[in-house]
Amino acid sequence: MVSGENVTSIAWTEPGAGSDLRGIRTKAVRDGDDWLISGQKTFIGNGISGDASLVLARTDGSTGRGKHDSFSLFMVGKGEGYTTGKQLDKMGLKASDTAELFFDDVRVPHADLVGEEGKGLQYAAEQLPQGRLAIAVASSAVVRAIYEATVRYTKDRNAFGERVIDFQNTRFELADILTELEVTETYVDQAIRAFNAGELDAASAARAKLWASERAKSVTDRCLQLHGGYGYILEYPVAQAFLAARLLTIFGGTNEIMRDVVGRTIAD
Ligand SMILES: Cc1cc2nc3c(=O)[nH]c(=O)nc-3n(C[C@H](O)[C@H](O)[C@H](O)COP(=O)(O)OP(=O)(O)OC[C@H]3O[C@@H](n4cnc5c(N)ncnc54)[C@H](O)[C@@H]3O)c2cc1C
Repeated sequence: MVSGENVTSIAWTEPGAGSDLRGIRTKAVRDGDDWLISGQKTFIGNGISGDASLVLARTDGSTGRGKHDSFSLFMVGKGEGYTTGKQLDKMGLKASDTAELFFDDVRVPHADLVGEEGKGLQYAAEQLPQGRLAIAVASSAVVRAIYEATVRYTKDRNAFGERVIDFQNTRFELADILTELEVTETYVDQAIRAFNAGELDAASAARAKLWASERAKSVTDRCLQLHGGYGYILEYPVAQAFLAARLLTIFGGTNEIMRDVVGRTIAD
């Protein structure tokens, strides 16, 4: 995986459970030295191009909403019983594949249980701050790139005998966006420093993801407006960024879940 020879995916989300992973139904049943995995996953990035998938499955035989120790992680290689569904037609990020996965009694050796049985959700939770920080970094980068593209565009474009950037509305919008951009970069840098020091807790990562992704969503929308009709044409980076950025408040935990994580720490 590190050398890039094996492409993998993370398969946690199911058609019936996304935000609430304790509702997943994919199950793994012990069979001698192996496990048999059955179930369905959806929205899996690299589901088609990947060689193997890190699958979250229920291992305690329970039904309904599982307990914190009802789930385990397995590294499942493509093989018999492992079927890839169709590529989902996303509104943006067309370069990456996202797909459904189906497991029909896929036989997995016990050695491919990741860590200890019953600790799948715990391992997932331990990785969440890093994943959410990565989304905050991507969001911050989108804001900078689209701000700079919009400054260039509005300097080049003329209307009513002036450059678009010479209208007060454009300057006010860009002034607000530059301020938000610098606040976002500073805030995300602070989260990176905390992560590098091993001190980024779940709520701080959630706040960074919440703040930066909301800025990316809002800034791509406002910059698209400053491009006029050209902003609606996919040839222009702002149009692609608008579509791609729409995901940032949804995946890696929706921003409603981020607010819930942060809100709990305030209420505690
Ligand atoms: C392009 C794309 C790529 C993805 N890649 C992957 C991947 O590689 N691997 C993977 O496992 N998953 C992946 N996902 C799944 C993604 O993480 C989920 O879509 C996301 O966690 C939300 O789950 P859901 O879609 O089931 O929405 P739901 O959980 O059904 O949520 C629906 C709405 O209810 C709200 N809601 C839910 N619970 C609460 C609550 N407690 N309080 C308030 N509001 C709430 C949500 O915020 C949302 O607005 C991907 C999704 C997309 C679209």
